[in-house]
Amino acid sequence: MKKDFRKIRYLGRSFEEVFFPRRCPICDDVIPFGEPPDTIGALACRCCLRELSFIQGPTCRKCGRALSEANKGSGLCSDCSRHIRMFERSFALLSYGPLERDIMSDIKYRSKRSSADLFSLLAARRFRSELSWISPDCIIPVPVHKNRLRKRGYNQAALFARDIARHTGIPFREDLLIRSLETKAQKGLGYEGRILNLQGAFLADSSACRDVRSLVLVDDIYTTGSTLEACTEELLRAGVGKVYGLCICAGRDT
Ligand SMILES: [Zn+2]
Ligand SMILES: [Zn+2]
Repeated sequence: MKKDFRKIRYLGRSFEEVFFPRRCPICDDVIPFGEPPDTIGALACRCCLRELSFIQGPTCRKCGRALSEANKGSGLCSDCSRHIRMFERSFALLSYGPLERDIMSDIKYRSKRSSADLFSLLAARRFRSELSWISPDCIIPVPVHKNRLRKRGYNQAALFARDIARHTGIPFREDLLIRSLETKAQKGLGYEGRILNLQGAFLADSSACRDVRSLVLVDDIYTTGSTLEACTEELLRAGVGKVYGLCICAGRDT
């Protein structure tokens, strides 16, 4: 009986793969049929992964971005050496270059939500030991305002967070933090402008946060750190013990 069920599921999957073949988020080619689910090979062409700018070498001990030559000695990027960081530390998988910008825009604005799972799987694998060392109570996404959620249909940060939680076995929660204000776009604003723009934008539920010792906040792109910082401030105020960040991409250290 169980075997038959598996067979039906497999046939269902094959049907989907034949009529709606999965495309590689990097080159948009059809992925060869028959790769086992939840493997990198089922989500992208393996050769395309080499095109991505994985963060390697010395990284900022606070935000996790790759350090510029000038900052390698201090261990802090230019932004983190200038601003107070209330989050414990954050991790980032990729440097935000032109290719990463295109892929993240596809996921966020062009409804290619299915591409998110490749990056969640890569992030879950890359930071498996860090996450097990932190041992957070839960993984949560940076929330979007309900109006934006209605318009877009999904929150891209939640796609990543839910998938990373599934791969690592850490509980996923969405009830701790909401975006209570619709803010204007952050693009073009400096750190101070962004912090001002985000003032009062997030609201944490104190009764839900009280028992949370530590959590990991997931976002798609880390630029100046203002979003992570604004969320952290609100979560700590509501009683969360420690906040860590995990971002799929991080801007370069300048
Ligand atoms: Zn490809
Ligand atoms: Zn930094």
